[in-house]
Amino acid sequence: MTTSKRETHRRKRGVPEGLWMRCPGCQAAVFKKDAEKLLGVCPECEFHFYVSAKDRIAQVLDEGTFEEWDAQLAPMDPLNFEDKKKYADKLRDEQQRTGLLDAAITGTGMIRARRVAFGVTDSAFIMGSMGSVVGERLTRLVEQATEHRLPLIIISGSGGGARMHEGILSLMQMAKVSAALARYDQAGGLFISVLTNPTMGGVAASFASLGDVVFAEPRALIGFAGPRTIKATIKIELPKGFQTSEFLLEHGFIDRIVPRSKLKTEIARTIDYCGK
Ligand SMILES: [Zn+2]
Repeated sequence: MTTSKRETHRRKRGVPEGLWMRCPGCQAAVFKKDAEKLLGVCPECEFHFYVSAKDRIAQVLDEGTFEEWDAQLAPMDPLNFEDKKKYADKLRDEQQRTGLLDAAITGTGMIRARRVAFGVTDSAFIMGSMGSVVGERLTRLVEQATEHRLPLIIISGSGGGARMHEGILSLMQMAKVSAALARYDQAGGLFISVLTNPTMGGVAASFASLGDVVFAEPRALIGFAGPRTIKATIKIELPKGFQTSEFLLEHGFIDRIVPRSKLKTEIARTIDYCGK
């Protein structure tokens, strides 16, 4: 097929890949460059699109201030796990596709000239699930924040919860990170947890919900199990939109909904307000 034919073919099918994207919020065809200028937000309906961990760092930290910690920590396959695919192969493919070693990046940087310990999970890497490396990186981040008395910011984008490919080693991470956060809290630290679309499962059930202050992006999916699982378990009708930022704000589970364009400013303001 020639190039021109391929283009005609694509146009017929609708929006060509690359320049345009379909907004899951309002179904509008959005010019990608326009959304990028708005930090990955739909210009029509303000739906907040996925942004990678690296883009988060660029959006939230002062330019050129990020210094990664524990960058060499790489995942292993201790259980020789295999489902549709060998876990070892899956890891290699995900690493090549995303340019990440695992689903979290941690380190230090400045937010409007305030030094912070900063972590972010990326839902593109095995759904942002927390395996041993994600748990270990976050735990070390919290420990560094404790030792150096830094405000701690973690932005979660994790639809996967615990990583079943690592079995109990993955589940342990929930307790490990939470214990480090308890020590950080006893030392008087300030933890701002930012929930983005999606934050589910073992991530929502551990560090992401443990912030002194919990922010969420608008219309983010936040919860533990999926609605179908809950409905099958408790056998009652669930309220509409019960796993959204807006519902959770109304019910006191989160403290504030912060649009992406305001996130950096709101974090800096909160650090100052708490005197950290
Ligand atoms: Zn939209």
